[in-house]
Amino acid sequence: MPLSVEHTSKRYHLHISGIVQGVGFRPYIYQLAQRYKLHGFVRNDGDGVHIEIEADEVKLEDFFDALEKELPPLARVDSIQKQVIPLSGSLGFRIVDSKNSSHTTMLPADVALCSACEAEMNDPENRRYKYPFINCTDCGPRYSIIQTLPYDRPNTTMAPFVMCPTCQKEYDDPMNRRYHAQPISCYECGPSLLMLDLKGNHVAEGDEAIAKISQLIKDGKSVAIKGVGGFHIVCDATNEAAVNTLRLNKRRVSKPLAVLFKDLSVLKKELLVSEVESTLLTSIQRPIVLLKKTIQMTLAPSVAPGIDKVGAFLAYTPLHQLLLEKLQRPIVATSANMSDTPILTDAKEVLAKLSHLVYAVLDYDRKIEHACDDSVKMLANNHLLSMRVARGYAPLSFSLKKRVKQAILAVGANQKNTIALAFDKHMVVSPHIGDLVGIEAVDNFKQTIADYQQFYDIKPKVIVCDKHPGYESHKWAKALSSAGSNIELIELQHHYAHTLSCMAEYELDEKVLAFCFDGTGYGDDGTLWGGEVLLADSQNYQRLHHLQTFRLIGGEKAVKEPKRVALAILFELYTIEEIMMMDNPACLAFDEAQIRTMHKMYEREINAPLSSSIGRLFDAVASLSGIVQTLSYEGESGLMLEQQANRHRDESYYPFALEGEVISFKSLIAEILQEKDPKLIAARFMNTLTRMIIEIAQRYPEFPVILSGGVFQNQYLLERVISALNTHEIRYYIPSVTAINDGGIALGQLYYALHKKKEKNE
Ligand code: ZN
Ligand code: ZN
Ligand code: FE
Repeated sequence: MPLSVEHTSKRYHLHISGIVQGVGFRPYIYQLAQRYKLHGFVRNDGDGVHIEIEADEVKLEDFFDALEKELPPLARVDSIQKQVIPLSGSLGFRIVDSKNSSHTTMLPADVALCSACEAEMNDPENRRYKYPFINCTDCGPRYSIIQTLPYDRPNTTMAPFVMCPTCQKEYDDPMNRRYHAQPISCYECGPSLLMLDLKGNHVAEGDEAIAKISQLIKDGKSVAIKGVGGFHIVCDATNEAAVNTLRLNKRRVSKPLAVLFKDLSVLKKELLVSEVESTLLTSIQRPIVLLKKTIQMTLAPSVAPGIDKVGAFLAYTPLHQLLLEKLQRPIVATSANMSDTPILTDAKEVLAKLSHLVYAVLDYDRKIEHACDDSVKMLANNHLLSMRVARGYAPLSFSLKKRVKQAILAVGANQKNTIALAFDKHMVVSPHIGDLVGIEAVDNFKQTIADYQQFYDIKPKVIVCDKHPGYESHKWAKALSSAGSNIELIELQHHYAHTLSCMAEYELDEKVLAFCFDGTGYGDDGTLWGGEVLLADSQNYQRLHHLQTFRLIGGEKAVKEPKRVALAILFELYTIEEIMMMDNPACLAFDEAQIRTMHKMYEREINAPLSSSIGRLFDAVASLSGIVQTLSYEGESGLMLEQQANRHRDESYYPFALEGEVISFKSLIAEILQEKDPKLIAARFMNTLTRMIIEIAQRYPEFPVILSGGVFQNQYLLERVISALNTHEIRYYIPSVTAINDGGIALGQLYYALHKKKEKNE
């Protein structure tokens, strides 16, 4: 028997938190309310979405059943608080205006062009045919245009664009797929595309701008193009001379460049893609994915010289689509900056700083409020690994079970910096900020902290930083928490923070056995750690084992010159006379006088800090096998060793010894000195590390294994370690959504402070 529409028996108030703004959540609720004939309203608020619904119990139950099953693609529900309230009797369902109470709703990330919008863009009958800023409730910019929360058009950089009547109608209609799509616009009312010459003059607009820019690219020139979170420098990825010129001008000798493809079918002709990788490439986040080259690849060799992988991604804005359609070839797309300074977001800055790199700029007049680089992901043995968490994913948020009493700020490491905040029932990690080198980068770091405090309206009373006194983030935190500030400062060891970062992702609160294989991080004893096995929980840790130490002769210089590390390691094991007689590539890279000078520095311990870093051991092995003597980018020796190992795929390994706490490299190095084939050395070296992890893990069978630190970005090593852990049925955790490198440090720092606080509070 059908119930009358007016018959209601219960009214609920629901408070839903999570990613529920700017993702089409209100129209979704509206449509459900229509379907189940509910009365009431839905309202966006600073702390999430509030809903009141009234109906008979059967309809309400149907609504609750459907609520979490059919969520819009970008939405994420963290909690639903449900409360019965008195009946109101008012009829109909409405979407009401935002109330501005608090600021704890999560920031939505930028999303790639959706298929519905893409279809409209390619439809000559559609009023947005070829419109470069087409978007809807399911796609388009978010984070990069938000000035303040809640996420409503007046709080975005779309505010200056007044909607035309047609757009306004779509925006206001809850049944339209552009209902409350904040960046909604069209040819009539939206931003415009502009091509600028190097003097900043407007030389073309719209279609003509795209045509002219694509002609320049076809002619082998580089140009700057405004993306979602910043500018890219692009050139024809199939033109060797063009790519080489870009490298030369950007002073980027051999670090691999990312390539942007129009779609998956074009990409598949050049690179090998698994099912999982395809899904990742075409996901709404559209990250850069590291993929193996095919034999028939037509990309210029200079895109990724000397290695068999390319970082590839698919067009994620309508503008990229239109440009690549015109070009009919993939383009190199590298962040518009010089050597790791922040990505540029303003055409004026591009012209002022990078005019030597480009011939023209493709700009538009919607401001980028927050810079956001492209995200970088990789698959190893089906494990998804994050190397850079930014556009599409960030800000990354995790919900907490208990409310935090005091807001906490974690300021991260110095390289690949991110910051993280805990407040209310949330943990939030910023997108990749970058290396804190130079004034601009440090300013960017400070600005991000200020922005996030404003977003969430918080003033942290606890700040966590790395122990390293030289880190810019450390110095900033120390200054802020100096006497009289009433801010508590916690200094946390780098590799313990790596461990905690993984624990935070998996919400672990037990004892773990963490393998932290890393570059260098400041150790508790003042030496530079980086080959550590820690027994840790959320409050404390113990250093169980570490790599045998050696001296980084020349300090920072050693980090860039693997041959210095190799020589230092030889000094630990052999006499100078023995070393003089050796004919391995590391020794041959120096003359006799240089070796003696280095030895003096080593003996006198002048500017030669002790280190236990596995990252540096990779450098030494790369040098001893003649693969690389001087680095042109960070991580090069690891990539080169991986490259060599892939050509051999030997499963044997070198002997190694655990001498108490110390993981000795004596026999490993002795064997390497006897071997001439770099492929064999590379494979056996990484197999040895794998074997070592398993042997150590087997000594502590009661604890799950954690892998963390930059060294595990090595695909060859990580694949082997994962398969060995599986074979031996060892329980393990590897960071996936958080960066496995120093990008994850901030989250680890935050997790520690949360548990420290908890202990205090209880
Ligand atoms: Zn769309
Ligand atoms: Zn319009
Ligand atoms: Fe690190």
